[in-house]
Amino acid sequence: MSRTARPDATELETVDAAFRAGAEAIGLADDLRTVLATPHREIVAQVPVRMDSESLRVFAVYRVQHSSARGPYKGGIRFHPSVERDEVRALASAMTWKTALADVPFGGAKGGITLDRKELSQGELQRATRGALRGLQKVLGPHRDIMAPDMGSGPAEMAWLMDEYHRVEGYTPAIVTGKPEELGGTCGRLEATGEGLAIAAREAAGEIGLDLGGARVAIQGFGNVGSHAAEALRRLGAVIVAVSDVEGAVHNPSGLDLPELLRRARTGIIGHDGMDVEAITNEELLAIDCELLVPAAVGGVLHGGNADAVRAELIVEGANNPTTPAADAIFAENGVTVLPDILANAGGVIVSYFEWIQNLQNVSWTREHVDQELEARMVRAFGVTHHRALHDGATLREAAYRIAIERVAAALRLRGFEYT
Ligand code: NAD
Repeated sequence: MSRTARPDATELETVDAAFRAGAEAIGLADDLRTVLATPHREIVAQVPVRMDSESLRVFAVYRVQHSSARGPYKGGIRFHPSVERDEVRALASAMTWKTALADVPFGGAKGGITLDRKELSQGELQRATRGALRGLQKVLGPHRDIMAPDMGSGPAEMAWLMDEYHRVEGYTPAIVTGKPEELGGTCGRLEATGEGLAIAAREAAGEIGLDLGGARVAIQGFGNVGSHAAEALRRLGAVIVAVSDVEGAVHNPSGLDLPELLRRARTGIIGHDGMDVEAITNEELLAIDCELLVPAAVGGVLHGGNADAVRAELIVEGANNPTTPAADAIFAENGVTVLPDILANAGGVIVSYFEWIQNLQNVSWTREHVDQELEARMVRAFGVTHHRALHDGATLREAAYRIAIERVAAALRLRGFEYT
């Protein structure tokens, strides 16, 4: 296999391939296949922002609403310089399958604003966030389309989105999830994706006879998902031997000083001076000696050019679409188990669902209740997927897509999709 540095499929091609294979395997009717192959609605809006220097910059905000067959559109909004329409399309489609597999009453959508937050002041970022909301306002609503954080966005941006929506529509906390708790956010949302990932990893490890106690873990991306996954996996006894951010990776085969790395990551202290680590590249991290690999940054990082070099037994996809179809085929051949994104990172949207319920009902759950419900739903989603994989002789990704497509197709049929 020749080594290429570039992914051999875009994120849209990756999701489309999984959908097409799933549709084929379950014998999905052509009409439904056509409807589900493309998004229901796409919006691109201008976001003009007066910069601190008084100059004007115009950003683009995207919202792609893929399917609302099972409930209101639901999906995060990404703040990243590489955001473009096809990437948002891929992520929106993946949300449809994720919400269906997790069995939460939502459809799938995704948004993104093409900007590099490191280049913007806090005031500029807030103006851009509010501008994005105004650009999309007509298609949003607590029963229409609900946004959440994604790469580059977090509770602060959700607070500004909620406040901007409030200006026109009045107090509507259920318009976004992932808000600060002071504004109606739920406890446990910040940690949910990483903690859900650890639950799914625990279940998968049990099935393949991998003992998480002492298992070595490498994590690409040490942001919201990666850092909380690291903490949760460590609580399960795993040893975190490598982590990375966009700048590079650090490695210690006997285990990293996780509390110190977390302190540095969360207080914005750059670098690993004085720590017992070896600096490696993001690419090297993917191939280090470990039992469990967690890609938790961007899409397309595992491809036909590097999949053979992966030494982990289990890959748990924290990021969306980190594995191209060519890499998937190599992992299947090499006996590497891949826990697919629409299952492994579903904890975020599951706890977003809990936040939405609390907002609509004006109630507040305890952390214990959130944790119990997350645990139960992740275990159930893993269980049905694993059972289907065994039954069909399929990979976990193939099984996950088959279940999700069947659920969405059933909802569309019952709604009478051909008459809308
Ligand atoms: P984040 O912005 O909090 O963290 C992203 C991390 O990835 C940072 O450490 C950043 O430095 C690193 N990174 C960025 N570009 C990189 C690159 N090219 N190479 C290596 N590292 C890079 O984002 P997040 O919320 O943790 O999201 C990470 C991934 O998880 C994304 O794919 C996102 O779609 C997915 N995801 C997030 C959630 C959530 O609840 N936040 C839920 C489901 C899926």
